[in-house]
Amino acid sequence: MLLNLLNLTTPLGWAIARVGGARLRRGPAGLWLGEGYRPRFPVAGAFTVGDVVITARTFAELDRLSPGVLGHEARHAEQYARFGVGFLPLYGLAAGWSWLWYRHPALGNPFERRAGLVSGAYLAPGAEPPTRLPWASALGIVRRSPTPATGGPSGPPGGAPAADGAA
Ligand SMILES: [Zn+2]
Repeated sequence: MLLNLLNLTTPLGWAIARVGGARLRRGPAGLWLGEGYRPRFPVAGAFTVGDVVITARTFAELDRLSPGVLGHEARHAEQYARFGVGFLPLYGLAAGWSWLWYRHPALGNPFERRAGLVSGAYLAPGAEPPTRLPWASALGIVRRSPTPATGGPSGPPGGAPAADGAA
């Protein structure tokens, strides 16, 4: 989308894809796809900078592993259109916040929740999004809900996140 060109997040995505050795091509919905990204960071099935969706795999592989992932990443492109480069520090804060309460960078992250936890491969289809704060309830700050915990202290809170989530 034009906004992400003007706010320079799409050019930043092109640069990151290029530096990481990814091959760029046009994708659906105005997205650019970068395949074969080599660095190990960030740890995600795919990540988006501006309108550029980048993966270490190919998108055919990725779509087999987590169907709908491009729809998820398109939501992130819309978030870049709204916040510009400010999205990056905001996302970092949101991931830290999520880690604090859920011990997971995405499950409590409002950007990921709005992009979709299932389409982002963070939650199994049909699983309930987590609502509890495991360590807070363990410390007695938040009263435990009457339903028994499904995951236990080290288990996934309120659902089963897939191991290879997309950012
Ligand atoms: Zn995401």
